[in-house]
Amino acid sequence: MRIVFLGTGASRPSPRRNVSSVAVQLDSSIVLLDVGEATQHRFMFANASPMKVDYIFISHLHGDHFLGLPPLLQSLGFMGRRRPLRILVPEGELHEVWKAVNLGYSSFRYPIEILEVSPGEELQFGDVVFRFARALHGVPALAVRIEEGRGRSVVYSGDTAPSPEVAELARGASVLIHDALCASDRERRANLYGHSSSRQAAAVARAAGVQLLILTHVSQAYEGREDVILGEAREVFPNTVLAEDLMEVVVRVRPPHRVLGSRFIEKGSS
Ligand SMILES: [Zn+2]
Ligand SMILES: [Zn+2]
Repeated sequence: MRIVFLGTGASRPSPRRNVSSVAVQLDSSIVLLDVGEATQHRFMFANASPMKVDYIFISHLHGDHFLGLPPLLQSLGFMGRRRPLRILVPEGELHEVWKAVNLGYSSFRYPIEILEVSPGEELQFGDVVFRFARALHGVPALAVRIEEGRGRSVVYSGDTAPSPEVAELARGASVLIHDALCASDRERRANLYGHSSSRQAAAVARAAGVQLLILTHVSQAYEGREDVILGEAREVFPNTVLAEDLMEVVVRVRPPHRVLGSRFIEKGSS
């Protein structure tokens, strides 16, 4: 199991951080967690093919988490896709997502199935199991847990204020990918808008007893001083890393999991 971060910023893109998307590479397919604008473009720089995406989980319908869906689906069609695609969305959001899928006189020669899912539900496709919990974000929003075979599991919080339900979903997981919009200085405001500070994400990781915490959905306001976000989290939960676009994490059956830095940033910036 390998995690490839395609977008790790909050709300709007910056040159270094695109809006939310994470690819989880399983044995034979990819689960895409959210699909912010220009996700298909980030794939071009990533060690992962969008043609392998068989499942797209949309945590909630804020634009920074799903506006990359219509163009990605259209490109997959142009690339000759035939295999079916499943899109998992929070209960009540099927109609909105269906409208997005069909934007722009689209016609698809591959089957697209949209499934509404709810907190507490469990779905299994082959040896991949999905579980869901409610996130605290002011609009219908879900966190997801993905397990493949035995021993490896990834939990993605989506956007959320600190939540015991997300902690419960993450219990004993290999990796928790959690909203960390800000450091403690902006924590109250973040919670008001359904987001977490990094130390709150770390407290959730500690409560859940995960092996590795990865902070994402980082506010552009911290560009250049993101070490504050990481440092505050590590005081609570030492085994924490801060996601960057194109960073990869190899999830092993037993820790340590292997974190590979962002080639994009090494190549691109001064
Ligand atoms: Zn967001
Ligand atoms: Zn949101």
